[in-house]
Amino acid sequence: MSGPKYRRILLKLGGEALAGPGGFGISPERATELAARIKAVKEMGVEIAIVIGAGNLWRGRDGVAHRMDRATADQMGMLATVMNSLALRDALERLGVPTRVQTAIEMRAIAEPYIRLRAIRHLEKGRVVILGAGTGNPYFTTDTAAALRAMEIHADVLIKATKVDGVYEEDPMVNPNARKFDKLTYIEALNLRVKVLDSTALSLCMDHNLPIIVLDLWQPDSLERAVRGEPVGTLIDG
Ligand code: UDP
Repeated sequence: MSGPKYRRILLKLGGEALAGPGGFGISPERATELAARIKAVKEMGVEIAIVIGAGNLWRGRDGVAHRMDRATADQMGMLATVMNSLALRDALERLGVPTRVQTAIEMRAIAEPYIRLRAIRHLEKGRVVILGAGTGNPYFTTDTAAALRAMEIHADVLIKATKVDGVYEEDPMVNPNARKFDKLTYIEALNLRVKVLDSTALSLCMDHNLPIIVLDLWQPDSLERAVRGEPVGTLIDG
């Protein structure tokens, strides 16, 4: 079996990766399953930084739909990502994977503040680093946070792990005959207005030539295969 093609990855997980049935809340069982998947990739000798969303707990736009102030609603979303980060750290540590959480909004009593070089040092020392609180700014998403942090830590690839196994020409839930793309250029992905990754994140990756892989987190071995450079999901680059 070949070694990893990508030595340092930024793994973007939607908050729903931690959710129990119904897509809401944090399921400790699910966290353990997720941690086991991450551990398997780590054991391939890959350095892993993680950005996790909060769709299982709170999305800013849900508050805005009820006339909340956007910045306040988004701050709540960022705080929710920290809860997910702590749940995932706990699950990883229970499996014996040394893990640090750093947050873009300081909350020193529970996590380190995000310090770029320190995050890189953790990775070099073999620790998983979970980067919580998004970018620290409202009006952004955790996809954009993932793209930004991927650049900052010099990740080789951004892996967006979802429950869909790649980018489709149409929503496969709506049209089961929709075609899946194995490869897309950044421009093609932007023109398609792909829902699976927001356009700010896409254009940031395009401007800095960071390859993106969209894959189904729960497909057996999908992460391992992606890290080995095998075709899995959809590769967006060029
Ligand atoms: N958020 C934000 N700034 C950021 C990242 C996230 O304001 O840099 C807020 C925003 O309200 C968002 C919520 O946090 O809706 C949760 O993140 P996201 O929607 O990206 O979670 P996911 O869909 O990946 O679970």
